[in-house]
Amino acid sequence: MSTNLNGGIPRLLVLGTGGTIAGSTASATGGSYAAGGLSLTSMLGDLAGLELSADLIPKPIAQIGSQDMGWDVWDALHKEIVAAQSYPEIDGVLVTHGTDTAEETAYLLDLTLAADKPVVLVGAMRPAGAVGADGMRNFANAVRVASDPDASGRGPLLVMGDTVFAAKDVRKAATSSIDAFKGYPRGPVARVTPSNLDWFGGATRKGEFARYQWPEALPRIAILTAGAGMDAKPVEALLSIGCKGIVLAGMGQGNAPKCVLDALGEAVKSGVPVVRSARVDEGLVDRNVEVDDDAYGFVAGRALGPAKARILLMVLLANGVSDRSEIQAAFDRG
Ligand code: GLU
Repeated sequence: MSTNLNGGIPRLLVLGTGGTIAGSTASATGGSYAAGGLSLTSMLGDLAGLELSADLIPKPIAQIGSQDMGWDVWDALHKEIVAAQSYPEIDGVLVTHGTDTAEETAYLLDLTLAADKPVVLVGAMRPAGAVGADGMRNFANAVRVASDPDASGRGPLLVMGDTVFAAKDVRKAATSSIDAFKGYPRGPVARVTPSNLDWFGGATRKGEFARYQWPEALPRIAILTAGAGMDAKPVEALLSIGCKGIVLAGMGQGNAPKCVLDALGEAVKSGVPVVRSARVDEGLVDRNVEVDDDAYGFVAGRALGPAKARILLMVLLANGVSDRSEIQAAFDRG
């Protein structure tokens, strides 16, 4: 059993947002279900029989599928976590979350929170009641991680499928298997079961403050996915609706047809930053490989995929960072 610094059982704030972990199905073998249908209280009630050695303090924030995640829920989550970080009686925070956008929420929190107390996101791929449901096991694993003093100084973590990932690396890589998450450039940072936790290295961010301030709002940034044979009209359309930045989910190492790159270069000249990332599963997007980033004025997304590149660009612009070399430096750091 984990104990906190005061010798008691760990006390964890549980912020509920919905997702499949709070989803239920009428049929154990049917395919359809509604994410976020179960309240946090009834979800935690189902966990009572697990005899988890932690004191859980539930706080519902939302009951949504994470495809509907956005500013209002992020703002509420951030405020709750900042408050919890300042309460000595709270040892860590759990966030139940849909898996579709868990990587975006985790990374947004990573950029805007101090890295001291454990913040652990957890979800499920199968709803309660489905045969082989993974929610309770993932939750028990997440409690073990959030209760461990060694989880601090690592930034927000995501626990899924007996595996722990750091926010910066994690992404959803499969639509339906229970091992749906991968890490890049780092793989998992720990393996966890309800009875065991093994870290693969020490915490490197102890005492780190929030890198960026929590903003009043986030700017509109679009992701443009490149496809063979496309023209430049989508770039014009994005600019016409007032996008403040564009993330290219490019082919290969962040490529796009020349007409699209030219239009994006024009966007840069008009003051709209453009980040090149890749629609490819994993790998770096480096500067000036096939695309002349210096001439176009683009930023190379490096290790961040399109979804996380969009989050970083939103946070940078909201914090008044608009200088291209400063944006590039932030992407180099990831
Ligand atoms: N689309 C839903 C969500 O992200 C269900 C997926 C899940 O939680 O696994 O909340």
